[in-house]
Amino acid sequence: MGKLLWGTPADLRALLCELVSWESRTLTEGEKEFPFKVQKKLQSLDYFQQRPEFLQLHEADPGRNLLMALYEHPKAVDTIVLISHFDTVQTEEYGDLEVLACDPEELTKKLFERKKELPDEARFDLESGKYLFGRGTMDMKMGLALHMALIEKAGIEQWPLNLVLLTVPDEEVNSAGMRIAVEELVKLREQCGLSYRMFFNSEPAFSQKPGDEKHYIYSGTLGKIMPAAAFYGKETHVGEPLKGMTANYMASFLAQAMEWNSLYRESDFGESTPLPVSLQQKDLKMQYSTQTPYRATALYNVFLMKRNASEVMELFEQTARQAAAVCNTAYAELCRREGIEGIGEVRVLRYEQLLAYAEIKRGTDFVAHLKKEILSHPEWDERDKSLRIADKLMIQCHELAPAIVLLFAPPYYPAVNSSEDPLIIECVATVKEAAAEFGVEVDQIHYFNGLCDLSYVNYSDNGNGWSSYERNTPVWGETYSIPFAGMLELQAPVLNVGPFGKDAHQYTERLHIDSAFVQTPHMLESLMKSLCKQALETV
Ligand SMILES: [Zn+2]
Repeated sequence: MGKLLWGTPADLRALLCELVSWESRTLTEGEKEFPFKVQKKLQSLDYFQQRPEFLQLHEADPGRNLLMALYEHPKAVDTIVLISHFDTVQTEEYGDLEVLACDPEELTKKLFERKKELPDEARFDLESGKYLFGRGTMDMKMGLALHMALIEKAGIEQWPLNLVLLTVPDEEVNSAGMRIAVEELVKLREQCGLSYRMFFNSEPAFSQKPGDEKHYIYSGTLGKIMPAAAFYGKETHVGEPLKGMTANYMASFLAQAMEWNSLYRESDFGESTPLPVSLQQKDLKMQYSTQTPYRATALYNVFLMKRNASEVMELFEQTARQAAAVCNTAYAELCRREGIEGIGEVRVLRYEQLLAYAEIKRGTDFVAHLKKEILSHPEWDERDKSLRIADKLMIQCHELAPAIVLLFAPPYYPAVNSSEDPLIIECVATVKEAAAEFGVEVDQIHYFNGLCDLSYVNYSDNGNGWSSYERNTPVWGETYSIPFAGMLELQAPVLNVGPFGKDAHQYTERLHIDSAFVQTPHMLESLMKSLCKQALETV
């Protein structure tokens, strides 16, 4: 039997530090190079030296790749997919220590010298010596290191099941990596005759409140969707305010109706989604003038547990209609008071209705050209492009004004939950038992609250859920799409078990050393071995 490269806590710690040292913030050169480095690392394993074709890079978008590594047992069909992301968030918040952000050992020492500057809990953890600090230590290069160690051990000990290690870029921004990986997972399954039994992620366990040191595992993940609106009023001169209606006035009614609206709160297994808030609201006047702002846009964040896109659009339309009704009543009152006729009632329409109207009015070629022009601007992100397309179409159809156009802006993460799946119930028990050997208490959470790539597997839908998303997302099929059909094919339960850490996305990001290098590796190995047993029973 060969010797393990990543079999001891010290080896794992060195592997983690090496992965962290390969800086890979989203949208940097480092992110592009990272999967090639991991590929090289895995090539050093005997298993992949004999089967180099089992290590595959696939392009997620120009320059960015995902990596898939397959460990296959000759007799096994059951396959566990180990999912991780290798991009990290930015590092500016480290200030003058930014050069050490990706050097955990040095950073942790350096922080010790200036521990007085740290928030209390971070200082306490640093002094305890139980934590390793650094960008990506917790979120989530340790998860990747753990998966690498699993696939190494599976190869050497010839575990009787198959493992697919999948590590992707862009999780922190648009999940471009995972959305492409869906198609690749479907292809791999066909090519190798695999049967996916579980999609397993190792995003870190987040503490639920300050001082909380419980180790959480997750049998699902929250979803997120972004309803957006383009407001189109009527321009006028500031000296004659009653001749127009500002988009800001209109937007204020929808903001009131959307923010903290409890209709959007979903509950399941005693957990609830955070309430919606606006993420952006701005008028589209580029410079100061005495013309009033008559175009504006707004973006709202909605978390999901069970609702699909169509249901959210219906609810959003209902909210917008109520907001418009309140706006129209207030405006009618004003018209009476001022003795004016007014510019008419605010109408509400979906993007798909505006598009159909514009295509009839201006022709499909004209509309396609208009969209193409907006899409050709690399300096605008998906959200800008979506809102600008709606805005430009409204300019062409201003007889519809005053109007609120409803749409979706990317990204969309569907919610997933496998808490009632018999396999997951067993797996949770196995992980709890393994953790108990260290006296570690593990609690199950039903929806991971950090958003993750598990959103793109095990999709369920009655057939209409995503059509509304396709029709009302202006950049759909151009610069953004979601492989819903592929996701429907990837039917297997999800589970997330990762190491314990704190303060992801902050300069105090840190990983619990024993959890990462001792406890979680044991929990994962116990879990995989129990799955091996099941796989043998079904052979
Ligand atoms: Zn993450």
